[in-house]
Amino acid sequence: MDMLINGEHVSDMDSEDVINPFNGEVIDSVPISHLNNVDKAIGAANNAKEVLQEMSAFKVSNKLYNVCEKLKENKEEFAELLTKEVGKPINEAYVELDRSIETLKLAAEEAKRIYGESVPLDAGLNGKGFFAFTQRLPLGVVAAITPFNYPLNLTIHKIAPAIACKNTVIIKPPTDAPLTVIKFAELVNEEFPAGVINVVTGYGSEVGDALVASDKIDKISFTGSVMTGMMISQRAGMKKVTLELGGNDPLVVLDDADVGAAVKGVINGAYLNAGQVCMGVKRIIVQEGIYEEFKAKLVEETSKIKMGNPMDRSTQLGTLISEKAAIHVEESVNNAVKDGAEILIGGKRDGAFYEATVVDKVTPDMDLVVNETFGPVAPLLKVKTVDEAIQIANATEYGLQAGVFTENYRNALRCANEIEAGTVFVNKQPTFRTDNMPFGGFKNSGCGKEGIKYAVEEMTKTKLIGLNLR
Ligand code: NAD
Repeated sequence: MDMLINGEHVSDMDSEDVINPFNGEVIDSVPISHLNNVDKAIGAANNAKEVLQEMSAFKVSNKLYNVCEKLKENKEEFAELLTKEVGKPINEAYVELDRSIETLKLAAEEAKRIYGESVPLDAGLNGKGFFAFTQRLPLGVVAAITPFNYPLNLTIHKIAPAIACKNTVIIKPPTDAPLTVIKFAELVNEEFPAGVINVVTGYGSEVGDALVASDKIDKISFTGSVMTGMMISQRAGMKKVTLELGGNDPLVVLDDADVGAAVKGVINGAYLNAGQVCMGVKRIIVQEGIYEEFKAKLVEETSKIKMGNPMDRSTQLGTLISEKAAIHVEESVNNAVKDGAEILIGGKRDGAFYEATVVDKVTPDMDLVVNETFGPVAPLLKVKTVDEAIQIANATEYGLQAGVFTENYRNALRCANEIEAGTVFVNKQPTFRTDNMPFGGFKNSGCGKEGIKYAVEEMTKTKLIGLNLR
């Protein structure tokens, strides 16, 4: 597939194959963009600003609804491509498609709600006699840099609000899984004037970096790892930056929890998308009174997970994004075992597959739980008290989301108040998101929020207009 620059398909001298991690087949290839094409995309997005900003909110909204309809019409084709490039089970690909459609719909609605407010300047010293109000204005050009795990919906979480508030966009999709994003950008391009949406493909350290460093881009909206996010924040200069970074989400299960519900929370949270989810359950902190019962049930339910061909409707666990990624997970688990942890079920790798794995006797200092393990692994940490559970939940550089299972409202509220995370769910695993909620972590999990309304706030600038009436 070609890049998309100023409404045209553009290739380049070099290209990179996109590989299906399930069977190693080459699905397609994309250009490795040279910097002159990145410059062309930046020029096109800047040239298209005026025409987009001239468009009424009514028209922008309608066009976003049209894109939404087109995505619905092509849902099957998109879902299959997503499964091929990421290795995720086809059922999960359909869920990503449904959420993408929902995200677009929310943005089409939000395009009509970009309000300023009146400001009583007379509440400040010498402010009497003014009539003042704010406007929320587009920033200009937004660069969207996105990861491989939910390539379509996470990219739409940037494109859709950016266009809703009349910014033009340049996308740098993930190198491993760029195809659904390019295909989607083509749908947007059919609706909007040339240059409103552009896609440049290639390596993050070159193409991504050129976007981040450009002084002709007004905002970087990035989703990806902490390491890349830190580099971007140092390189971005004065432009606005939103960083949606990694997570190491705790799931706390207290003695008074509904054990069955908590186990279901782990199954849905630790193995989803082969564990490659920023808000995946990555540390399971269980109080000692129910530890044995919880552990036995978790092993039993894990044994029922069906791993296999991601295209098969009955498959629950597909491959990781690559064999290299699966080897990395295997090494993390094996290192924990060397340090005294015990694999209760799973722990075997076959190419890019890694089994759903429960690891017991994990201690808070093991790399398996200190770092973000991006694989289908459920590490168990035993605690005595609620205080200890909260302390371990917070003993991490991350703070994306968290979950606590308890039937006691005092414990629920204590955990909700004291766990340092952008979201804390009670009686739900942290691996849950609706596309309108404010989403974004504390600490090294990032800065800024997404969720359409919140993304629009971060993609607009506020202007105050004051009329001196005296
Ligand atoms: P990554 O950081 O390796 O890559 C993300 C994107 O950044 C890719 O498009 C990559 O090409 C680009 N990139 C790499 N180096 C760059 C540079 N120097 N300058 C500019 N761009 C650069 O992340 P990944 O491995 O694709 O994704 C997994 C990570 O993303 C995990 O840490 C996961 O938790 C995180 N993630 C976070 C969220 C969230 O919303 N908080 C959602 C999904 C994934």
